Amino acid sequence: MAYETIIGLEIHVELDTKSKIFCSCSTKFGAEPNENTCPICTGLPGTLPVLNEEVVNLAIKAGNALNCEINKINKTDRKNYFYPDLPKAFQISQFDMPICSKGFVEIEVYGEPKRINITRIHIEEDAGKLIHLEDEPFTLVDYNRTGVPLIEIVTEPDLRSAKEAVAFLKTLKSILQYAGISDCRMEQGSLRCDANISIREIGSEEYNTKVEIKNLNSFKEVGKALEKEERRQKELYSFGEGNKIKQETRKWDAGKGRTIPMRSKEDAHDYRYFPEPDLPPVFIKEELIKEIGNTLPELAKEKSRRFMKQYGLKEKEVEILVSHKELADYFEEVVKFNCKPKDASNWITVEVMRAIKETEIIPIKAEYLAKLINLVDKGTISRLAAKEVFREMMESKGDPENIVMKKGLLQINGEDVLEEIIKNVLSQNPKAVEDFTNGKDKAVGYLVGQIMKETKGKANPSIAKEMLIKKLKEI
Ligand SMILES: [Zn+2]
Repeated sequence: MAYETIIGLEIHVELDTKSKIFCSCSTKFGAEPNENTCPICTGLPGTLPVLNEEVVNLAIKAGNALNCEINKINKTDRKNYFYPDLPKAFQISQFDMPICSKGFVEIEVYGEPKRINITRIHIEEDAGKLIHLEDEPFTLVDYNRTGVPLIEIVTEPDLRSAKEAVAFLKTLKSILQYAGISDCRMEQGSLRCDANISIREIGSEEYNTKVEIKNLNSFKEVGKALEKEERRQKELYSFGEGNKIKQETRKWDAGKGRTIPMRSKEDAHDYRYFPEPDLPPVFIKEELIKEIGNTLPELAKEKSRRFMKQYGLKEKEVEILVSHKELADYFEEVVKFNCKPKDASNWITVEVMRAIKETEIIPIKAEYLAKLINLVDKGTISRLAAKEVFREMMESKGDPENIVMKKGLLQINGEDVLEEIIKNVLSQNPKAVEDFTNGKDKAVGYLVGQIMKETKGKANPSIAKEMLIKKLKEI
């Protein structure tokens, strides 16, 4: 029997607002436990929520960016459940009238485009964080996250593999980051994903029992967990034991590499949703939707196309440049200082990227990188010397021209000086000279290397090579 996999995702995204959704407490990550709290977000009796306008604006922006319909009348509802990190014993969310519905995202898997439909986007408040200490009989609770604004994005069950799910998440993250809706830092919990997965026979239109997987902390783990759960379910079906698959929530245990049962899955009616009596419905004007739509920046996909066309770059390098909006912006800033786009792209995708891995910031200002590129382009310094200057710039943040002078890295182009050095190198390497006369062209590369070594990388390699070959032929 041939089976197919059905996956739908629910993604929680923390919105990039300064204050919380119903009070003016800060949303800043990394504060002392319970520092960012007040009577409203800790749910004390008698307090009243006030909806943060920026939350509505960002949710509309997300709707625009994800091709959704924006619902001009929407409302908030109470989702009732008790949990220690939710002091009110209900979460203000949206149930039957969410702010956005019916959108889509275009993804690409193995070079094939595919449209993944979005059922809805709704706004809600985040819960706090429980901290379980090892070997302690108690649990701590931090309410800083309570009331941080979220949007929940729910997809249709359109995904057919773990690969598609990961591709979707990557595309979604890029869109949300580019549009300035969220920083999407999974490691800080500002993008969290739950996945629903079921298996059915190919050709069937019915959906079988689905399992929800939680605790997916990175895209890699999403991929692994879904593949593992897919295998578990397929095995049960192929042994005629499909009925053993229960509607439940399973937790991904990254350490053990498997999903484990957490609890049986609740249905919507378990939550006893009812309209939030303390908040009026949200009315959105057409003009506001248009106005916010106009502020949407160019997203990664369009930017890729433009970079290839405008700067003549290859797909692979563009992929790296547009992977982060800051990097793409940086590239364009460097190019504005009149250096060749191709060179700028080379430097950024190799040296700058390597530096970012170390320092987590773009280490050199655009003007200086452009200057450095032009110094190489004009033959003032060699590529090798440029790398040294680059490292020095990372440290001192200085002007590359000053560094070149200070370190004496000006390239040796003068033929008189080079002539002398080549003569020495040839007399010191008779074996290589002999190899050349015996037709081994590789010897040239070795000898150029020796010249570069002799000049500490300051010789102009192409002039040196030209002169060397001439000299070798004279022997
Ligand atoms: Zn508060």
